[in-house]
Amino acid sequence: MVWFSYHGGHSGEFCAHATSTLEEVVDTAIERGFTHYGLSEHCPRYRAQDLYPGEEKLGIAGLAAAFEAYVARALDLRDARAGEIELFVGFETETLPPEGWLQAMMTLRDAYPFDYIVGSVHDICGRWVDFSPTDTAALTADLGGSEALQIAYFDAVTNMVESLRPDIVAHLDLVRKYEPAGFSFSPRALRAIETTLEAIGTSGGVLDVNCAAFRNGYGPVYPLPQILERARAVGIRVTFGDDSHGAQTVGVGLDQSLAAIAAAGYETVAYLTRADGWREAALDTLRPRRG
Ligand SMILES: [Zn+2]
Ligand SMILES: [Zn+2]
Repeated sequence: MVWFSYHGGHSGEFCAHATSTLEEVVDTAIERGFTHYGLSEHCPRYRAQDLYPGEEKLGIAGLAAAFEAYVARALDLRDARAGEIELFVGFETETLPPEGWLQAMMTLRDAYPFDYIVGSVHDICGRWVDFSPTDTAALTADLGGSEALQIAYFDAVTNMVESLRPDIVAHLDLVRKYEPAGFSFSPRALRAIETTLEAIGTSGGVLDVNCAAFRNGYGPVYPLPQILERARAVGIRVTFGDDSHGAQTVGVGLDQSLAAIAAAGYETVAYLTRADGWREAALDTLRPRRG
């Protein structure tokens, strides 16, 4: 039996909008039966206007220092807990600053011995798509409507995947976070999604089936069934992301990710191992390990 997640492990120690120490997060993952667990703290931001709420006091320099401390602590824990769990140390990207993000992300990836990276887009042209309904409504109006916002978002994800080639592509349809229950993408938006899926297939990336949407009351897990079914049809592998932001949320909702993967017709889920890289686990071999 294997049980895993590779997008998450944010901690209040190194992330202003998370809780717990990194050690508490890791020890909770062990308690909750994870065999493999990825830590993907948010990358630093490089401009004051790109700070997340709550990071103002830290500032750009403080954020860079916190990230450096995160990597050191995560690598220490990876070794210290090696007998109990396979930990993977990575980070979650941004496409920020809008000019120069790619160089910034590649430089960061090369600066430390990361096991993997999670490719995420949270903004369009420096404006958050997932911070608040009000901000997203204003961005939607400026771009000419929801469909235009969605297409701009998927184009940004495609560009990120093609240029950065991340190991995992995060919460593919984050852009629908504030859409009402029962929402589905239009044929035009789906064409942009097809292009994104092609890019993921070409890059060899693995899709994050992320239960944060469900856990936080923003509809089904990311991505929606209509995307997951297409991803399966074109042979894109999937993995789990609990998007945990503290010990409390470690693994919470992953049963929903598993159910969505099964419903889309997948027979296996991909998991990253230290010895053999990506492997595939049959759905009936996926369960938390019990003491
Ligand atoms: Zn976060
Ligand atoms: Zn994210």
